[in-house]
Amino acid sequence: LPNELRRDYILDRYAIIASARMRRPTDFSIPPKVETGEKCPFCVGNEKATPPADLLLIRSDNGITYSKDSEGERTSNWLVRCFPNLYPATEPSAEAPPPSEPLRPLRVAYGYHEIIVESPNHQEHPGQARVEQLQLSLEATLILMRRFVGDVRIRYVQLFRNHRKEAGASLSHTHSQIIALDSIPRNISEELEGFKKHRKTEGDCPYCEIIERERDSPREVFENEDFFVLAPWASISPFELWILPKRHEADILKITRTDVTALAKTLRSTLGAISKLLGDMPYNYGFHTSPKGLDSTDYHWHLEIYPKLSIWAGFELSTGVYINVTPPEVAARSLRESVKDEWSSLC
Ligand SMILES: [Zn+2]
Ligand SMILES: [Zn+2]
Ligand SMILES: [Zn+2]
Repeated sequence: LPNELRRDYILDRYAIIASARMRRPTDFSIPPKVETGEKCPFCVGNEKATPPADLLLIRSDNGITYSKDSEGERTSNWLVRCFPNLYPATEPSAEAPPPSEPLRPLRVAYGYHEIIVESPNHQEHPGQARVEQLQLSLEATLILMRRFVGDVRIRYVQLFRNHRKEAGASLSHTHSQIIALDSIPRNISEELEGFKKHRKTEGDCPYCEIIERERDSPREVFENEDFFVLAPWASISPFELWILPKRHEADILKITRTDVTALAKTLRSTLGAISKLLGDMPYNYGFHTSPKGLDSTDYHWHLEIYPKLSIWAGFELSTGVYINVTPPEVAARSLRESVKDEWSSLC
């Protein structure tokens, strides 16, 4: 097969799908996990090692209750525990920096940086988690996102996850993070731009159209009543995957409770299938959602999963063009059955 230079569905971003140097799933060797044996600050009983929780999900007689730590005390019977990052990238109380100078613009890194410990069980990562647990951690995350959006200065809230050291996780205990910003980050504004352009020329939401056009294509991975999973056309890395809600909605915060359950199951099946195929793969994922104040027709929220299976080197960094050695069609084919199996084992 010849190599192809593919353009993203809506972005002005290119990937060289290098079939000539193709790597199949069995060609990737994921390094084994090294456990350091250090005391984990996210494990039950070590809560004092982290700031007081500003959101706790706790099991009670009538279901789940929401709570938080007080300054001097820590609760230990939590199911999900959230607290401000000890080393935040953005802060609500950051001091004002000196004024900008010509060509050297700057302002305060205002915002919130939060850690969500997704389970009291150190190893309960989303690919292996019980669906109820994953659902709880998603619910906690949505509560926090709503809280940050409530700050008038906040424009965009990014929920993301780093899995394994190779993908930037400094601790191996299952957790995700939120960084809230007072501006719209570049990747999102580029998607909004592409979205607008597509709607102007084609008239429809491009993401709704992606679902229609990629259904039954070699890039479809999985579909259930609520979500569609695919390996995107111009995947920038091997096994890049997107999870799209089938019901058009710009803002993830509008998600219904049933959809949270369906999302938890879809995520669990997708990441579960990946770990069956490739082992404990390092990856990052990020939710793309509408910035504050947009109409529901202006965007379509989704989740992007970026496996860490290749190193972006000189060419990628210099050009913003990515060489991908596993065609999305190969990734989709090798995952399709497995995701279905995982899904039916959960239902
Ligand atoms: Zn732990
Ligand atoms: Zn849509
Ligand atoms: Zn996106």
